[in-house]
Amino acid sequence: MAESQNLMEKIVSLCKRRGFVYQGSEIYGGLAGIYDFGPRGVELLNNLKKSWWQANVYDKENFYGLDSGMFKHPRTWEASGHVGGFADPLAECRTCHARIRVDKELANVGVTADEKMSEDAINELFDQNRDKIKCPVCGKKDFTRAKAFNLLVKSNLGDFTSEGAEPVYLPGEACQGIYLDYKNIVDTMQPKVPFGVAQIGKAFRNEISPRNFLFRTREFEQADTQLFIRPNENKEAYEALKKDRWNWYLSLGIKENKLRFKQHENLVFYAKDAWDIEYEFPSGFDEVEGIHDRTDYDLSQHMKFSGVDLNYTDPTTAEKYIPWILETSMGMGRVFLAVLCDAYYEDEMDGETRVVLKLAPHLAPVKAAVFPLLKNKPELVEKAREIYSALKKQIPQIMWDDNGNIGKRYRRQDEIGTPWCITIDFDTLGETPELKDTVTVRDRDTGQQTRVPVAELSGFITSKINL
Ligand code: ATP
Repeated sequence: MAESQNLMEKIVSLCKRRGFVYQGSEIYGGLAGIYDFGPRGVELLNNLKKSWWQANVYDKENFYGLDSGMFKHPRTWEASGHVGGFADPLAECRTCHARIRVDKELANVGVTADEKMSEDAINELFDQNRDKIKCPVCGKKDFTRAKAFNLLVKSNLGDFTSEGAEPVYLPGEACQGIYLDYKNIVDTMQPKVPFGVAQIGKAFRNEISPRNFLFRTREFEQADTQLFIRPNENKEAYEALKKDRWNWYLSLGIKENKLRFKQHENLVFYAKDAWDIEYEFPSGFDEVEGIHDRTDYDLSQHMKFSGVDLNYTDPTTAEKYIPWILETSMGMGRVFLAVLCDAYYEDEMDGETRVVLKLAPHLAPVKAAVFPLLKNKPELVEKAREIYSALKKQIPQIMWDDNGNIGKRYRRQDEIGTPWCITIDFDTLGETPELKDTVTVRDRDTGQQTRVPVAELSGFITSKINL
């Protein structure tokens, strides 16, 4: 346990030190559960999104992308059940007033609380296990009764801010935008069932206890797909979806033994099945994505609340029905964290201990760093600048580095996961005639150096990224 906590601390520290992730509003003392992605982090995040979009829009035949507005009509969250039921059980420590999420604390001591449990039922479980649950801040065991705490974040917006008006909410989950635009997509794109809609969007939750760095935050991004299928044609499609999503995680280079599927024990009344993909974080296996077989619940609810007909009409048979939905919902921050945990290594190279992120090349924030061997030799710098500029036009995630000795530059690049370091030396300039216009390319994982002709550099890198 101590070792795994240590790993999380090392990752948090590396993220800060190397510009991946900062605490939000740090100069004001920080804001709990909010993080900012720094210059390296935003590149990794964008690479992840690109890979997800490729797999869920471009590689699919009948999938459509969407980017819906964050604010939605207040009815949306009533129809979805979030206003009435999107709550976690909260209790407060009577000694230090820290707040705990009772279902998660129960899970930590091996007791499963049903997601839809009544307040009384969860308090009964809580009472049976109070002697095992300590306040994470002061260590005492004296808590208030658990009460339901709604996670929706309220906001103000235009018409809805006048007195007595309904509040508008920031999205508690990103996927509602897909349901609200389902009719628009059907009317304008004329898709044939089965078809899918994919969206990456922000979600906000008043989490009782944000924890584990990016794992549980109050503002995060979700990447969702909703697959619209014919009623009752769910089984095969659901299995195919699970397999497809599993393979995407493998394509990120995540080790298969660090992933597992977990089936939900208690299903909400309308769902047919629900599985999570979990990653083994330093704190143990936990959810990165939910895959849900949701029947026609979402569209039926919005049809009921909006009064708009959301039936789909089959263009060949004229049959009318509400499509069933298979959903995948992934937390981008959780996958970002999983990728970092998986790529973090401390090993020996050139007689030194180094920290290295063995990121898959397509995810690495910097694909290659270009160095002049010595920064006080203008002829080397000039040649290196020329190679750097030409390469950057073809591969934007290229970095210039001339700071400190070569060993230090390698260590710095290893820490941010740069797969290749390119050094321009006197042989590049022709000191050894047969090596003229070649450079040294050093591989991050093996430390091996190979001589590559300048003209082949971009092909060398892109062929490996596309693998
Ligand atoms: P949990 O049980 O961990 O609270 P959940 O089952 O409520 O998660 P969903 O509502 O299914 O999560 O959301 C889909 C995905 O969004 C999750 O698999 C997770 O990756 C991500 N997610 C949910 N809540 C958070 C959060 N507070 N911070 C970061 N990511 C989150």
